[in-house]
Amino acid sequence: MVLERLHIYNSLSNSKEKFKSLRKGYVGMYVCGPTVYSDVHLGNCRTFISFDVIYRYLKYIGNNVRYVRNITDVGHLEDTGEDKISKKAKVEKLEPMEIAQKYTNSFKETLKKFNVLDPSIEPIASGHITEQILIIEDLLKKDLAYESNGSVYFDIRKYNMTNSYGVLSGRDLKKIKSNSRKLDSQDDKKNEYDFALWKKADKKHLMKWTSPWGIGFPGWHLECTAMSNKYLGDEFDIHGGGIDLKFPHHDCEIAQAVGYTGKQPAKFWIHTNMLTLNNKKMSKSTDNNLLPNELFSGENDFFSKSFSPNVIRFFFLQAHYRNELDISEAALIASEKGFVRLMDMIERIENIKSIKNNNDKLLGLIKDWENKCFECLNDDFNTPMLIAEIFNSSKLINDIENKGEIGEREKNYFLNIFDTFLNKLLGLTFKKTNSQNDLILSILIKVRNQARKDKNFEISDKIRDELNQIGIKLNDND
Ligand code: AMP
Ligand code: ZN
Repeated sequence: MVLERLHIYNSLSNSKEKFKSLRKGYVGMYVCGPTVYSDVHLGNCRTFISFDVIYRYLKYIGNNVRYVRNITDVGHLEDTGEDKISKKAKVEKLEPMEIAQKYTNSFKETLKKFNVLDPSIEPIASGHITEQILIIEDLLKKDLAYESNGSVYFDIRKYNMTNSYGVLSGRDLKKIKSNSRKLDSQDDKKNEYDFALWKKADKKHLMKWTSPWGIGFPGWHLECTAMSNKYLGDEFDIHGGGIDLKFPHHDCEIAQAVGYTGKQPAKFWIHTNMLTLNNKKMSKSTDNNLLPNELFSGENDFFSKSFSPNVIRFFFLQAHYRNELDISEAALIASEKGFVRLMDMIERIENIKSIKNNNDKLLGLIKDWENKCFECLNDDFNTPMLIAEIFNSSKLINDIENKGEIGEREKNYFLNIFDTFLNKLLGLTFKKTNSQNDLILSILIKVRNQARKDKNFEISDKIRDELNQIGIKLNDND
């Protein structure tokens, strides 16, 4: 069946693989969430919208999906070693937890505007310190970690005796060496490429907890291992995030999880590509970023026009999630036009006169087209191909328009496919369809006719006047 043909590009094997969940009918998916020290920019939104479509499709094809997307409120450090949340708390003169709450709220509000569904579980890193400490204790026992001056580090050399660090990114240790020097300047590590599981906190550090190694805080990579393991188990189906997290974050996650459980945590790794602005990665730490509200309102330094969340979502989905995408005013205007054209197509179908007779041949053609649409999503969630396929149906619409009529059954089927792909799966919100309005109107007219028959002119006049007020004029023959 067409719905059982889903293939996903797996970053672990660097190839498209047929998707089969570990437990039939159930899918566990973990996606790295935002670090809540500032508002999410459009690049972050692109990633979460991509996973929203993946989540919607996995559910649509009959899976019971447990979607876990965390909130990082501790442990994500600047290159200088300072915690991102603590740094912002000092700037805004707020408690670190106030910063985390403020930006968590704003993150959720933004995703609502983009019609992104809530995950099943949204765990926060600071609420899972105990779980993280337990993993560190286990890794210490197995000699895969070592304590040094109140901090604990993952021992990559030891891990590599039986495993291979860097399976996801394919990096060699020499490269990792030069990178980790930048990320982690402490000199209490055995090897430059080892990464922190626990860091000793100095007196000035704001977010810290008691541990067997003294007062400190967890390393950033550990939270995702602790939370994915807690909510999805030792092995689960999908782990996702932006491609910039592949290394070191996801390679460290794999090493920690393999060390802890002896198993590869996720069967499929999905990585979304970056949104760029002026062909440079959109990023929170530079000026090269644009916030969703700045684009909704049109008040920003980059574009002269405002765009709705729907159009921006549509623009994102016109590119494949694994391709880089540059946001520009011209590209957004083109998407806006495309979006209007899609709405027109729906309206055109709605406006074709429907008749009672069934037309099996036409229904067959519509179903063939529907299958092609599903094949697009089955091919690694190929949304640009799907959108192109939806536009292709305009030929079918032309033919039906030329005949001047369509069977009621075929019309409903056609409109339902639009609803399934555009609203339910791509998560775009369209105007309430005219067919629903027509239905409500015909009910009101029936009630009014009955009222007139019963000589209840109070009701019949009220219906006429109320409809008049919204621009619908009835005469007494209606
Ligand atoms: P952060 O809050 O920085 O941890 O990022 C949250 C998510 O957004 C992660 O999955 C990142 O990989 C992703 N991300 C960051 N920058 C971009 C970008 N320019 N385009 C797409 N995704 C991004
Ligand atoms: Zn993560």
